[in-house]
Amino acid sequence: MTKKNLSQYAVGRVRALSAYTPGEQPSDGGWIKLNTNENPYPPSPRVRAAILEEVGADGEALRLYPHPLSACLRAAIAKHHGVDPSQVIAGNGSDDILNLLIRAFADGAHPVGMTVPSYSLYTVLVAMQGAALKEVSFDASMALPEDGILSCGANLFILTTPNAPTGVGFSNEQLSRLIGRYDGIFVADEAYAPFADESAAALLKDHPNLVVVRTFSKAYGLAGMRLGYAVADPAVIDMLDRVRDSYNLDRLAQAAAVAAIEDEAYLADTVARVRATRGKLETSLEKRGWFTYPSRTNFIFTQPRDRAGNTSPALTADLFAFLKSQKILVRAFPNHPLTSTFLRVTIGTDSQMQAFNTALDLWQTHAPLA
Ligand code: PMP
Repeated sequence: MTKKNLSQYAVGRVRALSAYTPGEQPSDGGWIKLNTNENPYPPSPRVRAAILEEVGADGEALRLYPHPLSACLRAAIAKHHGVDPSQVIAGNGSDDILNLLIRAFADGAHPVGMTVPSYSLYTVLVAMQGAALKEVSFDASMALPEDGILSCGANLFILTTPNAPTGVGFSNEQLSRLIGRYDGIFVADEAYAPFADESAAALLKDHPNLVVVRTFSKAYGLAGMRLGYAVADPAVIDMLDRVRDSYNLDRLAQAAAVAAIEDEAYLADTVARVRATRGKLETSLEKRGWFTYPSRTNFIFTQPRDRAGNTSPALTADLFAFLKSQKILVRAFPNHPLTSTFLRVTIGTDSQMQAFNTALDLWQTHAPLA
């Protein structure tokens, strides 16, 4: 065949697709990375030990395929949540789980709903599946738009809770009322729930249409291992297993996740440290007079102000660029009026947040007016 534009063979919806843009992952050193909500602390030391044990002295175990169902991991997750293993599925990051949900519950005749702003990967997954997207907008209060969700007509609704990029949490009382009235599958994407005060997992026993999605990337400090899971009714898990890659988790990831979820004391300690630093950062931003949504996550969403107290997308872009020049990476969301004047800043260590605050001081003295 002569060389021609091979993309023309791709199906229309893939040709029209814009891929999800992940946050920058610089390969050189020296950065303070506050842009992708990773944990500033390493995973439990038991994780390293479990991985080394799985590899063994000669790597012999790696010759064999992993357990296709990740059975030990499903059992450990079930124990952690006090549910039956038939209610659990594990995935290659929670992105894998979200992909399975959309493959199983969405198509041209079965729309997907999401709130705006929330995690923008959903949009890409829905477009890939050729399903319609029903967007329900927040207002600046970021209160849950219950009526909009209930009337959007989606077969599958995905709520990021606590929300991203705002960090705002929703109470179980409110969620329970909403899910009980929702006619369809309701997904609570709880990537950040370990940093909150409540989890929708407590609602599973009363709401068979609820799917709780979790990740090991944030609270467990395992973004590099790609691990996530869902807890739901066994009938939902059965549907997800039908569309899952048969070996979606490798041996090392399975061993790592079991070790991580069993070390509950380590998780509690890491989460408490992140929350303590979050509280200090919120106080320092309040002193600066910057509006910051109350965070239930491991990041904050704050609105930079100039010396005269004004805000603008251009001012926010200026701060983003200044921080980058200081080798501090944060995340900006310039494409929506509810987010374009804000920056999302991951909670790092106390000393990283000190460096962040020092950079803000420096910027405020010479920043342009909004
Ligand atoms: N959901 C939300 C709301 C997220 O912010 C992220 C991380 N960007 C994910 C899911 C995916 O996490 P992972 O695939 O690393 O488990």
